[in-house]
Amino acid sequence: MAVNLLDFDLEGLAAFCDGLGEKRFRATQLFRWIHQKGACDFAQMSDLAKSLRDKLAVAAEVKQLGVISEHASADGTVKWLFDVGNGDAIETVFIPEDGRGTLCLSSQAGCAVGCRFCSTGHQGFSRNLTSGEIVAQLWHAEHQLRARLGLAVGERAVTNVVMMGMGEPLQNYAALVPALRVMLDDHGYGLSRRRVTVSTSGVVPMIDRVRDDCPVALAVSLHAPDDALRDALVPLNKKYPLVELLAACKRYLDAAPRDFITFEYCMLDGVNDSPAQADALVQLVRRAGVSCKFNLIPFNPFPASGLTRSPRERVLAFAQRLQDAGIVTTVRKTRGDDIDAACGQLAGEVQDRTRAGERMRRIPIAVVQPAQRV
Ligand code: SF4
Repeated sequence: MAVNLLDFDLEGLAAFCDGLGEKRFRATQLFRWIHQKGACDFAQMSDLAKSLRDKLAVAAEVKQLGVISEHASADGTVKWLFDVGNGDAIETVFIPEDGRGTLCLSSQAGCAVGCRFCSTGHQGFSRNLTSGEIVAQLWHAEHQLRARLGLAVGERAVTNVVMMGMGEPLQNYAALVPALRVMLDDHGYGLSRRRVTVSTSGVVPMIDRVRDDCPVALAVSLHAPDDALRDALVPLNKKYPLVELLAACKRYLDAAPRDFITFEYCMLDGVNDSPAQADALVQLVRRAGVSCKFNLIPFNPFPASGLTRSPRERVLAFAQRLQDAGIVTTVRKTRGDDIDAACGQLAGEVQDRTRAGERMRRIPIAVVQPAQRV
């Protein structure tokens, strides 16, 4: 069976080329052809010896993902649905903003964490993606957008990557790290560590490992200021409660390319959006001594969640309360609403293979009525 070269970081490709009796500089040339020039046909790689091209044609491939659909939003957001076989599909979203293009990548088909407000969580877990499948999303987006936008040689369409699509990246660690290395490699996509973000729901031991192995920017899905509520919203909290999660965030800062952790906080009407909960968040991060920013995310409702989006004025008041306490806080703009590309909607078209959504609907969650709100 042909080896998928998208599975390799440069070290891995050098080892593969060594196995073919080729020198390391050949691996670097090949790596550049694939990632910088978007080539997948070895015959195109004109500065490789004909003998190597022949060997590669027999032993290797650059395996692309099958595109099920592509939707472009009026605001420039592009969403791809890719086929990863066996009835599974994953989504990748490109979000252009002034001076940058952010690509949101999936790390798993489905997700086992089962966050209450996330449509992927309701879909359940199917399987881990390979490194090649993670990188193939970037490969496809970068080279297709480069051609479509008419970018000059050396110009990049994707300037930032966030591992925030389908899946918990730190539960697919073995595939994640080589993929991150391809993104960071100057012979690959050459992204700075500050522009690659891994987002986790709080897999504490793996936060420490990524700090040691391949530190990039870290975002943590927090969503609640106390364990009781977080247990209900992010079930992984029962295994790694807030005190352990915040301690891991503090340790991460020792090696992080940025001097803060981004906390993602999905604003759920009557659940986690009161002024008292904003104050409790401030206390939580201060007690832990974690330098941080908050990103408040308007919830994208889907019927099975039983949850609704916090009104805009409550989101703004919550943000103001955090800011008044000295914490930099942003409210995420909803992008690509017309193509269901906003956060937590990524699995919208993908079938539920595990009945996780059905199980979740049976777990009650306290919603505070307006009269009870602090
Ligand atoms: S929010 Fe992330 S970790 Fe939670 S269920 Fe969704 S994809 Fe998984």
